[in-house]
Amino acid sequence: MLAELAGREFRFAVPGIPPVRLPRDRQSLDNIWKTISHPPAGHAEAAWHPAVWTALTLPTTCIPLTPTQGADRAFASVATVDLPNRTPVLAIVKVSFAAMKSRFAPPVVATASATVVSGVDEMAEQLEELFVQALPQARSAAQRSSNKAIWLGGGSTVAAIDVTWRTRIEAMGAAMGLRIEIVEDPARHVRDVEANLGRATPPAYMLMWRSMSRGAERLVDTFCRICLDGAVVQFDEANFHDALVEARLALIEHGRAEPPINGGGGRRPPVAGEERFYIKTGGSKAGDRLVEVADCGHEQWGGDARRKAPRALMGVQRLEGVSPESLFRCAKCSKHRWRARF
Ligand SMILES: [Zn+2]
Repeated sequence: MLAELAGREFRFAVPGIPPVRLPRDRQSLDNIWKTISHPPAGHAEAAWHPAVWTALTLPTTCIPLTPTQGADRAFASVATVDLPNRTPVLAIVKVSFAAMKSRFAPPVVATASATVVSGVDEMAEQLEELFVQALPQARSAAQRSSNKAIWLGGGSTVAAIDVTWRTRIEAMGAAMGLRIEIVEDPARHVRDVEANLGRATPPAYMLMWRSMSRGAERLVDTFCRICLDGAVVQFDEANFHDALVEARLALIEHGRAEPPINGGGGRRPPVAGEERFYIKTGGSKAGDRLVEVADCGHEQWGGDARRKAPRALMGVQRLEGVSPESLFRCAKCSKHRWRARF
């Protein structure tokens, strides 16, 4: 079994970061496997082994980490693993390498560790930790393809409590597939934020830390007017870490932590001129997740919303496999209801 790991290469989707290789010799591989194959006390052995093995052999993603304690390079190999009759787990294997004496010397493993968690909030926390530990280049690469979100609130008073607060927010967003733009002291920047909302691709979420956003409340209305498929998340906690947890839980409820599913399975493609109605059941990097529903009968559809609702549009494309000719949102339904004409 371990022979499968000999010399295995791990590549990174980060420009300028060369791949890493595991050693080839039996003893080193044995040591790695011994270190990571035993779950901590209280963790079910049965799920641990296949999860850790999958993270090493079929990773969903590999992340180059900032090496610590004399190590030369470090990386994490990550997989979400669907095991029969169990809830999916997130498995992470981290390996670091000692500094090499020469370019041609075989890699020497310094440390290896594994983590297996289930439950979306624990998964989100682990992904946040990885983002914080990742090489800065990997962080920006991870953010490039993400949806945008805007976070309102914070400033020097928060920095006095936690100097890493901005990175924490960015990490929370990254774990949810969001690139979060932070607006400190939002009451002082209401006009700038409004101008920016109208200019660029509208963010998917407005995360408003209410106790830190007094005087900027009208931004909620502006956001709802400009971003037809956007959602507002508001939280009241006075303490930064509580606020962060609230924001994370709210985004999980919005479906941000759900693994993406492939749409289109078994659906009849729409014919020209056909109309279909949808509501959103969740969101992901690849657009909103929609289900087909009936017409609400409100007859309040307004104009074509494709430009102002890029994620809903992506959601329709993903579900039906074709792009609609036009897309409308009901102004009366409390949950966004979309009408697509093909
Ligand atoms: Zn309606």
